[in-house]
Parts: sequence; C-alpha cells; structure tokens
Amino acid sequence: MPQLSQRISTLNGDGSDGWGVFYRARELKAQGHDIIELTIGEHDIGTDPSILAAMDRAAHAGHTGYAMVPGTDDLRREIAQRLSQRTGTPTTADNILVTPGGQSALFAAHMAVLEPGDSALYIDPFYATYPGTIRAASGIPVSLATRARDAFLPDADMLRKTALQHGAKSLLINTPNNPTGMIYPRDTLDEIAKVCRDQDMWLMSDEVYDTQIWEGAHISPRSLPDMAERTLVIGSMSKSHAMTGSRIGWIAAPEQVIERLIDLATNTTYGVPGYIQDAALFALTAGPELEAQVAAPFRRRRDAALQVLNNQTAVQVIPSRGAMYLMIDIRATGLSGEAFAYRLLEEHRIAVMPGESFGSAAAGHLRIALTTDDDLLLDALDRLCRFAARLIAEKTL
Ligand code: PMP
Repeated sequence: MPQLSQRISTLNGDGSDGWGVFYRARELKAQGHDIIELTIGEHDIGTDPSILAAMDRAAHAGHTGYAMVPGTDDLRREIAQRLSQRTGTPTTADNILVTPGGQSALFAAHMAVLEPGDSALYIDPFYATYPGTIRAASGIPVSLATRARDAFLPDADMLRKTALQHGAKSLLINTPNNPTGMIYPRDTLDEIAKVCRDQDMWLMSDEVYDTQIWEGAHISPRSLPDMAERTLVIGSMSKSHAMTGSRIGWIAAPEQVIERLIDLATNTTYGVPGYIQDAALFALTAGPELEAQVAAPFRRRRDAALQVLNNQTAVQVIPSRGAMYLMIDIRATGLSGEAFAYRLLEEHRIAVMPGESFGSAAAGHLRIALTTDDDLLLDALDRLCRFAARLIAEKTL
C-alpha cells in the first residue's frame, strides 16, 4: 500500500481517544449487564414528529436533488434573523453558511483562517474533536489549561502569553461549555476579545449549546465591540432541536469569509440535503416552544442532580450553568477520574466519562451527561457519591 498522508495518520495525536470507559460499558451491555450510561451527549428523545413530518413533506415535494451549496436562501435568512435577534449583531443571509453539523463548521472555520503549520489555540478541558479538527486543517493545536478553582474559565494573562509565545492565529472557545457546563461571563469574554484584537487573532466561538442556559445569560462574543469582523460562530441544530443525526449547523462570519467558505463547501460537502434544510427551517420558525421542550429535561435533571450532590461532601460539583452536563470533582478519593470511572463501571455498573477524556485540566473529575431517565440518573448519582465516600473512608483508615 502506498503511504498515507502524515496529516491523516497523526490526526488523533498519539494518545488514546478517551472513550475507553464508554467502549467497556457497551461491551458489558452486549454481555447482558444492566448499565446506567451517563456518558453520551445525546438526547434520550428523538427528533420531534412535527420536524420529521416537515422533512417528509419536503422530500416528497421533490427536495431530494442537489441543494444550494451555501444553504437555501430561506434558511440562511432565518438563521441570520435568529442571530440578529438573539445577539443584537446585525446579520444577513450573506453572513451565513449552512453546514452538515457543527463539527463540519468547526473544520471549515479552521480551514478558512489557518495556513499549514499555524498555531491554533483551544481551551482545556475541551470537546474531544478540537485538536484533531485543527490538525485536519493542517494547523498545530495548542491547548490553554484552565483550573478547577477558576471554574475552568480561561485566564486572560495566560491566554495573552500563550498567544504571543506561539504566534497563534486563532482561539477556539465553547460556551456554554462541554464538558464543564460553564457559561463564560461577560468579563471573561471581554478579556478574551481584547486579547484577540490586540494579537490580531481570529475567534472561533462554538455556541452549539446556546439554547441550554440554566443560570445567567449566554453572550455571543461576536456581539462585543469590533468582534464581528474577527469572529466565526459555530451553530448547530443537533442539541437545540434533537437533530443530531440530521447533520445540520452553520457558521456565522463576515461576508468575505463566507464567500471563501462557500468555495470550500463546493469542493468538499457540496451542501446539506434540501429536505433536511427545509425541516430545519420549519423547526426554527416553529417558535420557542420546540426548543424549550427539548431543553426542559436537562434543566429538570440538572436541578434534581444538584440537590443530591449538594447534600453530601464526598464529591464537589462544578456549578453547571448550561449544556447537558455536570462536572464532578472526585480528587478527594485519591483516584484519577479514569481509575474512578473504571471502578464505578466494574463495581456498580454505572458509566461516566473521566475528566481526563477532555484534557489534563479536568483530571480527577468526571463528566456526567444528563441524558438518562431522571430516576436512573439520581440513583446513579447517589451510588456514585456513596462509592466516593467509601473510598475516602478507606483512604483515611
Ligand atoms: N461542539 C461541541 C462542544 C459539541 O459538544 C458537539 C457535539 N457533541 C459539537 C460541537 C458538534 O455537534 P454537531 O456536529 O452534531 O453539530
């Protein structure tokens, strides 16, 4: 076989992909064990029947051929109007490219701004694909560690120093955040924006969880002074409308960036199926109820989970303000997140993601996905806390 490219051979770096506990849980399940899975960032409901009906109508109306590569005019206009309304930043259809999901938007965004070998910053802990996405765009991923005691918010001085040291071309942030559930407050975003302006960096803002806000407000950094010209927003219908499998999202960016991104889309994805775009348009114009309905179980479970977690002292909870996750600090047990997660799985049949799967900054933590039935979730959390308490007691014997 001829040689594969260096780029694709080293896409995942040399570490593990971080999904070991997840794979082991699936293995145990296949052997017939009852496992409570709190691992995956996907709703426990399907896409709403009204959206599926819109998809069906569109397909039967003949929208099964090649669709407009940048997205249909109506959908681009609707997304633009949504962003104008929600962020206060004037946005037109020319600022929008419709993409096959947020993941493809993340890749396209980095392709648009990175020369091969350019450094691209991202914040640790991070969504698993970030470094690989940057490598796929021939960039060099550079992580910026945050600390649990700062609620995993980036430190502006460290950001400036790292950006300078690497001559970074871009910074990727994610708010509301996967895996921490944090929402970046205004002052953090102001500081980030200032560093981006001072260092002439692009800002990639992954806002795929922007409809899952439990406390405080989501601010898009594109709306901050002089930031629209250097910000590429990544959006998606995956989380907001339980449309993960439909693969539909967008990039919002300056018109000149979108023009070039359309060239990229023409030569890569060739757009998103028309019947999916029509279904997305239906979903976005259906009013806020559909979105609220999709978000409601996570809010309810997050509130109930916090009650359980605030009633004990063995583990500490990071104050989750958004997204479908809770982050738990288990360092008092003396185990790593990974060791704890494997033991919890083998001894208690509960699967959670080790913090280490999301970078070294979240070592000694666990990410709990709120994507399982309320009673199972609360039972699992209760047992997790008792397991942690037992480990702490054993340690002090
Ligand atoms: N960004 C973050 C932070 C995510 O958690 C995800 C999905 N889990 C994505 C982007 C990509 O989502 P999609 O491609 O389904 O829009």
